[in-house]
Amino acid sequence: MKKFDYLKPTSLDEVFSLMEKFGSNAKLIAGGTDVMVLLKRKRIFPDVLISLRSVPNMAYIKDEKDKIRIGSMTTHRELETSTVIKEKLTALYDAVINLGSVQIRNVATIGGNIANAAPSADTACPLLVLDASCLLISSKGEREVELKDFFIAPGETVMKQDEILKEFIIPKPSKLSGSAYWKLSRRKAMDLPILGVAISLAMNEDKSIKKARIGLGVAAPTPIRAFKAEEFLTGKFLTDEVLAEAGNIASKEASPRDSIRGEAWYRREMIRVLTKRVATISFKRANIV
Ligand SMILES: Cc1cc2nc3c(=O)[nH]c(=O)nc-3n(C[C@H](O)[C@H](O)[C@H](O)COP(=O)(O)OP(=O)(O)OC[C@H]3O[C@@H](n4cnc5c(N)ncnc54)[C@H](O)[C@@H]3O)c2cc1C
Repeated sequence: MKKFDYLKPTSLDEVFSLMEKFGSNAKLIAGGTDVMVLLKRKRIFPDVLISLRSVPNMAYIKDEKDKIRIGSMTTHRELETSTVIKEKLTALYDAVINLGSVQIRNVATIGGNIANAAPSADTACPLLVLDASCLLISSKGEREVELKDFFIAPGETVMKQDEILKEFIIPKPSKLSGSAYWKLSRRKAMDLPILGVAISLAMNEDKSIKKARIGLGVAAPTPIRAFKAEEFLTGKFLTDEVLAEAGNIASKEASPRDSIRGEAWYRREMIRVLTKRVATISFKRANIV
């Protein structure tokens, strides 16, 4: 590995001044579970790693009146053991309980998972269907970007070089709503998804769909929303025919590729299967009687 300095700033101001000083020669590091792999594989060559681990107030889950805020340095283990996540953001809970291993989840952060911008990032689809926004901050101020507009390409986001990801802002799901995430992988633990499908449904009293969100991972160069399938579902009742058609539409919206984990045709087929399965779980979780 190339030699690098490891800096541990203790405030955001210090982080920003180090980022300004070292510019593109610096790399931010949170839990390091992606960064260290990239360093070892000689895919990145920073002179300096700027750790966010000693910066206070970056790891939290705040259950507010209308929103839930999750600090970017919150680890997957903290999410997994939070009752707020388990009870209110069920799709995210589904994702974190099967992410890596306990050892990985103890150090890896939700901010790192999203900022790394891998199409396979397990928390991306749940956050997409939960209408999450990212709060980006720099020495000049802050801005909020909806997650659906955050990813540009594999490993690329709208974040500027002087910005860091501070927190995720998630509107509290309404009463008659439910969400779920299904990670299709060969093994339950320590495996990246072949495909990830998250769905959230907000229902009307008459059991028709008020609002649908479908998030697909490893189905395109970035995690995506299946907007046409969502639109198709809106106002409909969840019959087998409706679910089958929603799956067909979502599958057509995807642009998967062949990879060592799975071929494109298989991913397309499984989008159909999982759309039906995950929508059914989300509907059950909406607790509509
Ligand atoms: C054995 C193993 C198993 C894994 N299994 C899974 C899995 O099942 N599912 C999955 O999705 N991932 C998996 N991963 C990948 C990884 O653990 C996750 O993506 C993790 O959430 C990354 O978080 P981190 O804190 O370690 O990020 P880091 O490695 O510290 O950072 C990742 C990227 O994000 C940037 N970054 C981090 N925090 C911020 C911030 N606040 N603002 C701006 N940029 C930031 C860094 O500069 C870097 O580019 C696995 C990794 C390993 C090694």
